Amino acid sequence: MSTLPDRHLLIVGAGLAGLRAAEGARGAGWSGPITIVGDEPHPPYDRPPLSKAALLSEEPPGVPVLRSSEVVEQLRVRHLSGVRVHGLDTEGRTVTTSAGELGYDALVIATGSATTTLPGLTGLPGVHVLRRYDDALAVRASLARSRRVVILGA
Ligand SMILES: Cc1cc2nc3c(=O)[nH]c(=O)nc-3n(C[C@H](O)[C@H](O)[C@H](O)COP(=O)(O)OP(=O)(O)OC[C@H]3O[C@@H](n4cnc5c(N)ncnc54)[C@H](O)[C@@H]3O)c2cc1C
Repeated sequence: MSTLPDRHLLIVGAGLAGLRAAEGARGAGWSGPITIVGDEPHPPYDRPPLSKAALLSEEPPGVPVLRSSEVVEQLRVRHLSGVRVHGLDTEGRTVTTSAGELGYDALVIATGSATTTLPGLTGLPGVHVLRRYDDALAVRASLARSRRVVILGA
């Protein structure tokens, strides 16, 4: 892998795959700047607890971050949170984002997957999707005042 110090690795998606891509690149000798862009307001976090501990714990759950801020700092990764990528120019090696344009030398797209919603159910009171941390908080609050629960998706 190139060790040129000025080559910029841009990773779109601040989930597990995006974080592991950054760790893998550093581990393989990437010495240039690395930026992770993610549209969520949180550092990379683990989703499995969102349907388990986050719903069962007595105390409201914190964000189940995958790495401490110290570890992320050691990786020398710039994390742009709350920034959505909405365009890619492979000729010019740039992406357009909600915060402006970003250039790159190498690009990893690690945008994961999204929930499938059903027609007519979006935005109804008591109807939730469960994908993000904020979804888990909403489900948790709803469960606390519910007696019957229907789960779609096995
Ligand atoms: C509730 C729940 C429970 C789960 N439980 C388990 C389990 O028990 N065991 C298991 O193995 N797996 C489980 N999974 C699956 C596991 O969490 C996923 O496989 C994993 O999150 C995939 O990681 P990823 O980085 O590929 O994608 P994601 O975690 O989806 O991360 C992608 C990130 O990219 C962001 N993004 C997307 N598009 C853009 C864009 N255009 N611009 C900027 N950012 C963008 C997304 O918002 C997201 O933050 C569970 C998932 C959920 C939702």
